[in-house]
Amino acid sequence: MRRKLVVGNWKMHGSLAQNKALLEALIPNLAVLKQADYAVCVPYPYLFQAQSLLQGTNISWGAQNLAKHEIGAYTGEVSADMLKEFGASYVIVGHSERSTAYCESDANIAAKFVSAQRVGITPVLCVGETLQERESGLRERVLAAQLDAILNSVGAEVFTKAVVAYEPVWAIGTGFSATPDQAQSAHEFIRARIGALHSEAADKVRILYGGSVKPSNASQLFAMQDIDGGLIGRGSLNANDFEGICRAA
Ligand code: 13P
Repeated sequence: MRRKLVVGNWKMHGSLAQNKALLEALIPNLAVLKQADYAVCVPYPYLFQAQSLLQGTNISWGAQNLAKHEIGAYTGEVSADMLKEFGASYVIVGHSERSTAYCESDANIAAKFVSAQRVGITPVLCVGETLQERESGLRERVLAAQLDAILNSVGAEVFTKAVVAYEPVWAIGTGFSATPDQAQSAHEFIRARIGALHSEAADKVRILYGGSVKPSNASQLFAMQDIDGGLIGRGSLNANDFEGICRAA
């Protein structure tokens, strides 16, 4: 039985004061929840703050991106080892907001995934189709290509220590979540694709759903067989909402 996981993706939101208020409200309320794992992925400058406030709690922390290189003359980049120094447990890799705005290629995403695992940070690999792709019946082809970028270059066993997030682009930040059945069928496809190569990895990998998850729809989504939790954007910025979503896991 896979343990559920809820990860907040703060994106480019927050300030020292806002983060402190948010985390100080969450810490005691999530401390009483024992049934799942919880984490927040914060902007780089707030990693130290997250580490200071969350150490010793049941909320892990992480980042939203990392460099594919280990070290060197890469102005503006942040390495896996640097994230490790700040205690990051997770790092989001390949979020659609990055792959579209910053033209991240599948090869780059695969290299970042490997960088994270090299230092023992769990990559949260985002996959998902656009509205146009969905309407053209291309959902599975798109998901397959995104997964194959890792499966073909690194292998399937790496998913024993990774998380996948199915985030249909049309559901991100729109208020319109995928239905539980739509999400379940995508998650089932993702698990089967990994399972065709490595059954243990398919069994172990936690597949999160992301895209307009709220306290009001989280329970139905998380009740589906292959949905192992959520990757939460807007709903992670408000303590009551995030707690409500965590309670549903
Ligand atoms: P929303 O929850 O705001 O739709 O964002 C989802 C997301 O992109 C999480 O990574």
